[in-house]
Order: sequence, then C-alpha cells, then structure tokens
Amino acid sequence: MYDVIIIGGGPAGLNAAMLLGRSRRKVIVFDSGEPRNRWSQSMNGFLSSDGVNPREFIQKGRAELAKYNIELADIKVESATYSKGEFVVNDEHGKVYRSRKLLLATGLKDTLPELEGVEEMYGKSVHHCPYCDGWENRDKAIAVYGPERKGVGQALAMKNWSDNVTLYTDGTDSLRQLDLELLERNEVKVVKEKITRLEGEDGMLQHIVLGNGEKRPQQALFFSLGTKQQSPLGEELGCEFTSKGVIKTRRQQHSNIPGLFVAGDAARDMQMVVVAAAEGAKAGVAINMELQEEDRK
Ligand SMILES: Cc1cc2nc3c(=O)[nH]c(=O)nc-3n(C[C@H](O)[C@H](O)[C@H](O)COP(=O)(O)OP(=O)(O)OC[C@H]3O[C@@H](n4cnc5c(N)ncnc54)[C@H](O)[C@@H]3O)c2cc1C
Repeated sequence: MYDVIIIGGGPAGLNAAMLLGRSRRKVIVFDSGEPRNRWSQSMNGFLSSDGVNPREFIQKGRAELAKYNIELADIKVESATYSKGEFVVNDEHGKVYRSRKLLLATGLKDTLPELEGVEEMYGKSVHHCPYCDGWENRDKAIAVYGPERKGVGQALAMKNWSDNVTLYTDGTDSLRQLDLELLERNEVKVVKEKITRLEGEDGMLQHIVLGNGEKRPQQALFFSLGTKQQSPLGEELGCEFTSKGVIKTRRQQHSNIPGLFVAGDAARDMQMVVVAAAEGAKAGVAINMELQEEDRK
C-alpha cells in the first residue's frame, strides 16, 4: 500500500514526488515517457533553467529524487479506480498497486495542423506557445496558422514579437469584416489560399507553398488548435472537466473526487513547465496535509 501513487512523471508529477518524498511518504511515480514538450530542444521561461534541454531537465529532476523513498516506474498505467477511500491502479502489464491518495499529472497533447512537413518542424520552427518560443523568433517572418477564425487572436498577439506577421486561413474564408479591419489596422497580412506543404531544412521552415504554386518565405509558424488530455484516466475516474477539456481543480489541486488531486497541464490553469512544477508542489503539500489529518490520533 503506497501513501501516494502519482501518474505522470513530467515536471508536475516529479515536483509533487519531491515534496512528498521530503515528507517521508511512500510514493510511486508511473511514467510512459511521452512529455508534451518532447518535440522541443529548449525549455524556455523557467528561472535558472531557461533554455535547458527538456530531457536533461527531467533527468536532473529524476536524479534529485533518488535520495527519497520514491519509486520511479517507467510503465504506462492502464486503469485507475477509486472505492471506499482506496485507489487501485493497474499497469500495462496487469500488475495491481494500491494507494491512499492519487495524483494525476498526465499532461495534454496538442492538435497539430494537418500540413505536410509539420511533424519534423514541430518544436524547432513550428510552435504553439509565444511565451515559450516567441523570443527566439523575434523579428522573424512569422506565419500564424488558423483556419476559419481560429488564428485571429494569435496573429494579433504575435505582433508583440515581430512586425512581419501573416495569418494563413488555409483555404477557408470565414473572417468577418471586423476581423479583416482589425488585422489590417495592426498590419497583419492575410493569406486565404490553401496550403500545399511546408518546406524547409533540418526542421527549420523556409517556405509555405500554396495551392496556386506560390512559395511564401516564412521562418516560423505558430498555431493554436487546442489540446486533448493525454490520458483518459481523469474521465474514467469521474473527474469534472472545463469546456476546454482540462480537469476542474479546486483549492490546492483537489479534484471533485476525494483523495484525487490533479496537477500540471491536465488541470485548469496556464500551461507552462514552471506552472506545472508549482502545481505539483502545491498538490504534494496538500496531499501530505490530508494524510497528516487522517493519521492524527
Ligand atoms: C513543442 C512544445 C514546446 C514547449 N516549450 C515550452 C517551454 O519552452 N517552456 C514552458 O514552460 N513550457 C513549454 N511547453 C509546455 C510544457 O511542455 C508543459 O507545460 C509541461 O510539459 C507540463 O508538464 P506536466 O507535468 O503537466 O505534463 P507532461 O510534461 O506532458 O508530462 C506528463 C507525463 O505523463 C505521462 N503519462 C501520461 N499518461 C500516462 C499513463 N497513463 N501512465 C503513465 N504515464 C503517463 C506522459 O508520458 C508524460 O511523461 C512546450 C510544449 C510543447 C508541446
């Protein structure tokens, strides 16, 4: 019987494990090895670790946990149930684990534009988060991908980082007159032609090739097409979700299920490494305080 099972060994899960380990709790962290930023070479915006390789960041975190009573299991969890104050977790090999508390830190996955060439450029010159990658692309020729009206907000936001911003609606024509006027006033170019493919070298975008054969020089592409939960476990456990598909959390990362906490991208709030780690720390403390209260004589 573990005090706490943590599902997800990204920044949220590992930081929660650290606080719980330091509180002398018996903890196991399951991780299937697919962190959201695995496409990226540099993790930006984390004080003291700005620009660090995300894999090295995680390895360093795992090494720091070695002195605590924490098991790291590089195994996928297939199911998790809650009954009468106990969580029962099954791993992908059918092994069963039990705990008093459960932390879901399973993260999100991004919906990528369906464009030829996008996968090899994702995390290098194709990005979704301006706060993570805007600085590195300052003053470049920035494309924003947004069919229908999905790119208007991001195209306007990208003017913060470059004067040279073009919104591509990829063969759709749903922009309203007000959108077009706003974009024009803010000197955002609009291209409505269908995109055939992205062209570049070593993951670095050079051109967006259009259906009419035109090749438009671009150095970076940003998009915002939404996210999905990486794991169905939150839904299976009966968690409440927001309309944006993240799990609703209350004070200190509590979910609507007693003893079940959620931290990081899977939970409601800003999606960045530093925030995920902070939520993990909050959950770790809150879980320990709940255990303390339950054990008090
Ligand atoms: C391309 C890209 C670049 C980014 N760049 C930055 C940046 O520069 N700065 C920044 O602050 N943020 C950046 N982000 C966002 C950042 O990746 C997330 O905010 C952060 O990873 C969230 O941490 P997390 O612990 O919640 O989830 P994750 O890091 O996604 O970790 C979740 C972990 O849970 C595991 N898991 C899921 N389901 C299961 C299961 N059933 N069983 C076992 N394990 C499971 C996964 O394998 C994964 O390892 C970037 C994201 C992307 C996509």
